[in-house]
Amino acid sequence: MGKRYDDLDAKQKAVLDRAAFVLIQARDEADAILREVGIELPDNPFASPCQGTFDQDDLFTSPPHGDSDCACARYKGDGIRPCINTFVNPYGANFGAGVPRRKCGHLPGAHFRMD
Ligand SMILES: [Zn+2]
Ligand SMILES: [Zn+2]
Repeated sequence: MGKRYDDLDAKQKAVLDRAAFVLIQARDEADAILREVGIELPDNPFASPCQGTFDQDDLFTSPPHGDSDCACARYKGDGIRPCINTFVNPYGANFGAGVPRRKCGHLPGAHFRMD
């Protein structure tokens, strides 16, 4: 297992955010080009799921027990602000609003596996 995003210093994080977003955009573009001719790009490192974690103290957003890993499949956003993608959080409170979803909220670099 390689380094985690949270292990990096501020400068490394900033650089990784930029690099990861370049890769994410390249993948999205490649995806779009291939989809025009009916080809789906298989999963690859560009689309690695978010490696971020949630603060266990945040009762509204974290699972109450155990797993606090983010389940976001891919970064969505402008490359500067935190990810706006959402995913189903089976442990979350649903407040009567159906399937509990939560927002990723992690930066692009967190969506890149370094191993
Ligand atoms: Zn995300
Ligand atoms: Zn995330």
